[in-house]
Formats: sequence, structure tokens, C-alpha cells
Amino acid sequence: MANPLFDRLFGKHAGTSRVFLHLADGQTITYAAFLRMAAQYAGALTKFGLRPGDRLAVQIAKSPQALAVYAACAQAGVIFLPLNTAYTADEVSYFVENSGARLVLCDQAKQAAMVPVTTACSAELATLNADGSGTFADVAADMPDSFATVDRSLDDLAAFLYTSGTTGRSKGAMLTQGNLLSNAQTLVTEWQFTEDDVLLHALPIFHTHGLFVASNITLLAGGQMIFLPTFNIDQIIENLPKSTALMGVPTFYTRLLGDKRFTKELVAHMRLFVSGSAPLLADTHVQFEQLTGLRILERYGMTETNMNTSNPYSGERRAGTVGFPLPGVELKITDSRTGETLPQGEIGEIEVRGPNVFKGYWQMPEKTAEELREDGFFITGDLGQIDEDGYVHIVGRNKDLIISGGYNIYPKEIEQMLDEEENVLESAVIGVPHPDFGETVVAILVPAPTGQPDVEAIKANIARSLARFKHPQRIIIMPELPRNTMGKVQKKALRDQFQGLFTA
Ligand code: ATP
Ligand code: MG
Repeated sequence: MANPLFDRLFGKHAGTSRVFLHLADGQTITYAAFLRMAAQYAGALTKFGLRPGDRLAVQIAKSPQALAVYAACAQAGVIFLPLNTAYTADEVSYFVENSGARLVLCDQAKQAAMVPVTTACSAELATLNADGSGTFADVAADMPDSFATVDRSLDDLAAFLYTSGTTGRSKGAMLTQGNLLSNAQTLVTEWQFTEDDVLLHALPIFHTHGLFVASNITLLAGGQMIFLPTFNIDQIIENLPKSTALMGVPTFYTRLLGDKRFTKELVAHMRLFVSGSAPLLADTHVQFEQLTGLRILERYGMTETNMNTSNPYSGERRAGTVGFPLPGVELKITDSRTGETLPQGEIGEIEVRGPNVFKGYWQMPEKTAEELREDGFFITGDLGQIDEDGYVHIVGRNKDLIISGGYNIYPKEIEQMLDEEENVLESAVIGVPHPDFGETVVAILVPAPTGQPDVEAIKANIARSLARFKHPQRIIIMPELPRNTMGKVQKKALRDQFQGLFTA
């Protein structure tokens, strides 16, 4: 009789009067109180007719309640399906329909827009607000504050997590209890998490980073979280002195570095800054270390696999790399046409295998077969290379690779040059259709606050240092790059916008 995910992350803390969550308003929630809430929610799920293996779609604001819904799903054996809070009802309808969710939980403010969605999919609808009110909370209030944990095994599905949709339509990654637990355990060991840790949590919890990395490792270690709704710079500055660890995306770090209040003294208690989800600029790395004396630890992961690699906790954290494969994770670089492993140093497709790798995309058998090999290796869609010391470098996404006149062009090589140019804040290099070359290179530049980039000078610099086939045929200035809510640059949107440049 067991339920590994619930027992190891949640159940073992039942009755503990230690603080689990610190909220922005100073309120605290103990582990015991959190688990009583989760048990009532598990009771409510049963009351709504959900059985083990059913899906619960959740689109509610980040709150202790939202996290308790995750715990309740684990306890009741229900598959947890968190949704990006920025999605519109139209967007949500795809997920509800695709997943066959039986019940949808949303904030009251979204209820009216969600009614047609759930009606069309024959799902039930209930509300749960960040203040703990709502129709779901009303049902839960009548439930006992303990719940007979449903038996589950490591192979049972625990969550459907939809990918960020950076390269196309989001796909529902099926994750088992074993996927989640193995990764959480590895990270607790690698990053030396203990119950003394206080994690400053400012990420969303509908994504693998904030939910399965940050929250799971805190729960497994029995630590505490300062649980902030968003990355609000004032709240971050206020709470850094009380924290030991921060998990973030690169924009967190650029924003911190841009704030005068961010000083070495402020982070005297901090032992760990982690970055992931998108590439951390080398500049950010250097500036951060100069200011704080601490090096950001960059890691690499994705919805389908949780975390694959990490720079070492003790040992050299190498800028521009995502470190080494985590223990238990096999990583190889292959030729995307033949699938053969490439010699060390060459650029190719990153493939990973291990207990962290998901079970496939829900109801997408062809897509699953394309990306998940029979031998268990998952073709990540990322291009990378391994240096002579074994550090993994991410070169970009396979879909962003530009093939011009038969040559392979890696946007990152050109972007790194452009980012160094005066008055360039950041850049994106894309391939657009071209009648002669198939595709050709276009660069988009975002000006720095200091002034406008000198396009002619940039062209001259590029001409000096890069082979002709890599030269951008057009340089376009834009005020900002399109990004999704995880801060990822949406190159597909840029390609769509500029696809007619040479062919129209
Ligand atoms: P979709 O699969 O729907 O196109 P997505 O791949 O952006 O969206 P996620 O699973 O959220 O969805 O993101 C994983 C991707 O993020 C990785 O495949 C990789 O491209 C990128 N990524 C994660 N960490 C890093 C990192 N440290 N450096 C560079 N890229 C990273
Ligand atoms: Mg992806």
C-alpha cells in the first residue's frame, strides 16, 4: 500500500508544525495546515466524481491553494494538469478537449468565459480563487481534513504538462510519479538541498521549472518557500536577505542587475542562484559574479524530461554551458539524419535517456514515435555539443537551424556577435525563405537604452569575421522581441512575420 509521490513529497510532513510557505503579505502556512487543506481538496475531487487516472485541468492564480490542488491530485491518484494562467478561454479549450479533463478549476474572474469551453467538452467547472474562496472550496470545506491516500506506483501517471509552445502547438507530456521523484531526488542531492533551505519562489507553478524543480525539491527536502505570485522586484529585494536559494530564468538576473538595491550585502545568506529555461547571457554571468562574488548555476531541462544537465554545485560552473548530464541521465549528440552518435566536439541533436524521460505525448502517437526512440532515447529538438571537459553547450533549436544554399547556419553564433555590438541590447537571427538559397539569414536587433545601433558598422564587422553565407541579408530593428510567458523568444512568430521578405 503506497503512493510514492504523495508519501515522499507530502505525506511524510503531515502533522509537522514547521513552516512550509511564507506569503507576500507575511502570512505563513505550516506543513500540517497545508496537508489538511490538500486532504480536503482530495475529498472534494472525489465528491466531484474524479477517480484515479482522471484528469483535472487547473488554471488558477499562483497561491498555496493552487499548490494544495497538486498535492490533492497526488493523494487521490488524479492526473494534475496545470495550465498557463495567461491562456485565454479559447486556448484553454484545446487543452481541456485534448486531455479529456473531467473537471476544470479556474478563478472566478474566468468563470463566465470558461462555461462554453467546459460545456462543449462535457467537463465540469468549479472555481477556486487565490483567497481560498470559490465553489470548489465550498465543497472542500465540508470534507474531513484527512484522506485515505490512493495507492499508486512509480509507473502511474502523475501529471500532464503541456510544453511551452515555443516551436509550435503545445504538446501534453505524460509524466509518471517515477519521472518526477527521480529528478527531484537527484536535484536535492546535487544542489545539496536540506530542510534549512528557504527558497525564494517567484516562478509560475504551471511550468516544470516552478512546479517540479523548485517546489518538488523543497518538499522532498522539507524546506521552506517564500511564495511570491510573480517576480516583483520590490518583493524580491525585500525577501532576498531571508532566503538561501533562488530559482529563476535569465530575465530575473538581468532585472536584479539593473536594480541599485541589489548588492553583495543583500545576498549574504544566499547559497544558490539557479538559471534555466532559456540561455543565460555570458555578460549576465560575469556581471553577477563581479557584483556578488557568487556564480549563477545554469541547468538545462524541458517539460518532457524535467532536468537533464546541471553545472556542478562544487566545481567549475562554466559560463555559456549547461554543465554535465545529471546522475542517471544519459546524454548523447547525434546526427539528426542518421541518428548516429557524433564524435566529441561536433554539433548535433541532443538525445537523452533516463528515469526522468516522459512516457510520450498524450494522444499524439505519431509525434511520440518521432521523438521517443524505441531504445528509450528522447530526441530533444535541441542542438548541442560537448566540449573536451564534458560540459554540454546548447547551440539552439533544431527548428531554428538555418539551411542556406546547402550550408548549416547556427543562429546563436551570429547572435553572440551581434549582442556584443554597441547599442545592441539583444538580437535574434532567423532563416526566411529565399528564391535562390532556399533560406537566408535575417537579423533582428533590439536597441539598448544607450542609443541606436550603427547598422553599417555592424555589417562591416560581420563581413570581417564571418563566412559570407552567414551574413544577414537584412538587419531589422525592433523595440523588443516577441516572448512567451516563460521569457522565451518566439522565433516562429518572427519567421511568420518576415517570411515574405524575399519571396513576396
Ligand atoms: P515547445 O516544445 O512547445 O516548442 P518549449 O520547448 O519552449 O516549447 P519547454 O519544455 O518549456 O517548452 O522548454 C524546454 C526548452 O527550453 C528546451 O528544449 C531548450 O530549448 C530550452 N532551455 C531550457 N533550459 C535552457 C538553457 N539553460 N539554455 C538554453 N535553452 C534552454
Ligand atoms: Mg520543447
